[in-house]
Amino acid sequence: MRRPILAANWKMQKTRAEAAEFVEGLLPLIAGSRAVDVVIAPPFTALDRVAEALRGSGVALAAQNVNPEEKGAFTGEVAPHMLADLGCTYAIVGHSERRALYGESDAFVASKAGALLARDIHPIVCVGESLEEREAGNTLDVVARQLSGSLAEVPTDRAAEIVVAYEPVWAIGTGATATPEIAQEVHGFVRGQLVERFGTGGEQVRIQYGGSVKPDNVDSLMAQPDIDGALVGGASLQPATFSRIVCFQPLGGAS
Ligand code: PEP
Repeated sequence: MRRPILAANWKMQKTRAEAAEFVEGLLPLIAGSRAVDVVIAPPFTALDRVAEALRGSGVALAAQNVNPEEKGAFTGEVAPHMLADLGCTYAIVGHSERRALYGESDAFVASKAGALLARDIHPIVCVGESLEEREAGNTLDVVARQLSGSLAEVPTDRAAEIVVAYEPVWAIGTGATATPEIAQEVHGFVRGQLVERFGTGGEQVRIQYGGSVKPDNVDSLMAQPDIDGALVGGASLQPATFSRIVCFQPLGGAS
């Protein structure tokens, strides 16, 4: 049984004061939620403040990026041990915005995932096709290539520690969510690839869906057999909407 994981990706939003106010608003709203993992990924500048606000709550802290190097002349970059020092237990890598805007390759994403595991931080590895790739019928090929490249440095015996986020680029920040059936089709494929690569460990990897997840579509998405959670951008910015996502009610499932 995989434990659901709901993660907030704030991207380049919220000052430290706004971040602390969010946490103060969120915690009472999710106090009665079922056994799920909740993760918040603020910008680097608010990590320390959010760590303080989350102390003792059981909600995990994530970074939105990392550099795989330990130290050195890498202006503007942040190393895995620095994230560990701030209390991060997760970090997002390979987000489509970083792949598209900053040219990050699968090999670079793989080195980040490997470096995070070396510091006992769970990588949330993002994959997903563009609209052009979907329309050309290449979705599964693209996802397979990204998975094999981006997970190349994950040791087989540590597979269960990673999270994969399937985020179709055409659904991110657009309001156009994949239907639960479309998402499940790719999630089922991702599961197969993970089992091929990691054996039984692949069954334990949690696969999040990301792309315009909202209170009104989370229940049907979470009812799918290979959707183990959500990576949420826009709807994670307000405690009311993110808490409703955390307290999802899988349609037809147990509450
Ligand atoms: C994301 O950025 O990972 C994301 C899924 O954003 P949104 O929920 O806004 O589509």
